Amino acid sequence: MKYDRLREAHIFSGSLNLTKASIASSRPFHYPQPLGALHCGKVSLESLAGRFGTPLYVYSADQIVERLGLFQQAFAGRDHLVCYAVKANSALAILKLLADRGAGFDIVSGGELERVLAAAPEAAERVVYSGVGKTAAEIDRALTAGILEFNVESEPELELLAARAQKLKRKARFALRVNPDVFAETHPYISTGLREHKFGIDIRHALRIYKSAAGSRWLEAHGVSVHIGSQIRSADPFGAALQRVSKLLRQLEREGIVLKSVDAGGGLGIDYHGGSFDAVAKVQEYAAAVNRALDGFDGRLLLEPGRFLVAQAGTLVARILQVKRNGKKTFVITDAAMNDLIRPALYQAHHEIVPVRPRAGRARTVDVVGPVCETGDFFARDRKLQPVLPGDLVALLDAGAYGMAQSSNYNTRLRPAEVLVEGAKARLIRRRETIADLLAPEIAAVANGTSL
Ligand SMILES: *Cc1c(COP(=O)(O)O)cnc(C)c1O
Repeated sequence: MKYDRLREAHIFSGSLNLTKASIASSRPFHYPQPLGALHCGKVSLESLAGRFGTPLYVYSADQIVERLGLFQQAFAGRDHLVCYAVKANSALAILKLLADRGAGFDIVSGGELERVLAAAPEAAERVVYSGVGKTAAEIDRALTAGILEFNVESEPELELLAARAQKLKRKARFALRVNPDVFAETHPYISTGLREHKFGIDIRHALRIYKSAAGSRWLEAHGVSVHIGSQIRSADPFGAALQRVSKLLRQLEREGIVLKSVDAGGGLGIDYHGGSFDAVAKVQEYAAAVNRALDGFDGRLLLEPGRFLVAQAGTLVARILQVKRNGKKTFVITDAAMNDLIRPALYQAHHEIVPVRPRAGRARTVDVVGPVCETGDFFARDRKLQPVLPGDLVALLDAGAYGMAQSSNYNTRLRPAEVLVEGAKARLIRRRETIADLLAPEIAAVANGTSL
């Protein structure tokens, strides 16, 4: 029992003090009995791996719903809408789960719009469309679907939107995505709120653009949006960005332009190291910073969390193929690879890795790697790992966001299956790819008279 408690503490909070808050904010994975297998809720990951094979993504629906609830409660005092950032995890079943609980969606492509329409067509009116490069066809589809707002990232895009709206005889609600020139402490690849980044419109030009759009019959200045980056751990940069937005709102009002919505973007980070992360307190701190900055604005607040809702709900379960030694190093080779979860290779991201069924013995320092032919194909380097043998299962934690969503078929590897766990029930929400799925577009080309 002592062993089990220690293991649980390691996974949940990094300490033995499992307070209510730390359980509420913890990962939804635990070892129910000493030396038992890791569970997601009431479901054993070992049994899921047996049923559906590996590598396998497993998500806790309960935690996703709980995290959405944290946002909804933290902003309950004002008119708000949580628009989940689809790109973090675009599984149809997850979109449906969130839509059924009132969420809207932040999309960044026409493809993501199709996902929302497939999962929850009634949620179309709760969609905001961000992204620096929207095509005319994508804009047309979104206008026809009747989305809530286009978050426009340049003047030419606003002109294109007006032209498409005129063509379809549908007025387009837009928000300018302003670039507040605020520094956010995160990985440079996922920082977006500085003037040197490709995102948004320099906030100093926004007033002029709103004024010129006021003359257009086909555009409605609906809101303003800001998104400064991803995996931001402190609430301060969000507050700073929204203070600049707030100043813009006052300037606009003086010109007679009253916006209905402020979109505060997403980006709230989690703790990939486990630590003593408290999701409840984090959301409250974030909400306080947002509300303080927007004091006096009584329109609708839009929020676009992605990672915060789904990251910790998910794990990637992999089977160990080999354990090999090269010189001084020990490599644990899993059947999952960078094509299944690219975050370590792309952002030097950290994912905790735990055995699904712990063995007794001392932890060893190893590299955990996949079979892809790239030295960058690693999940962990010089990491202390509990003892494992070929055939064992390991769980890569906090893999629910930007995991499957960024997966690829590199090395002609079939993408994993995905399972959603709700209470004691687990259901397959995406079957494993087959080689036929992968070859189909090429076989089809050949069938159409092209030769290999
Ligand atoms: C990626 C993105 C988000 C979500 O970011 P998270 O870090 O996952 O919360 C929200 N809004 C926009 C515009 C984005 O590009």
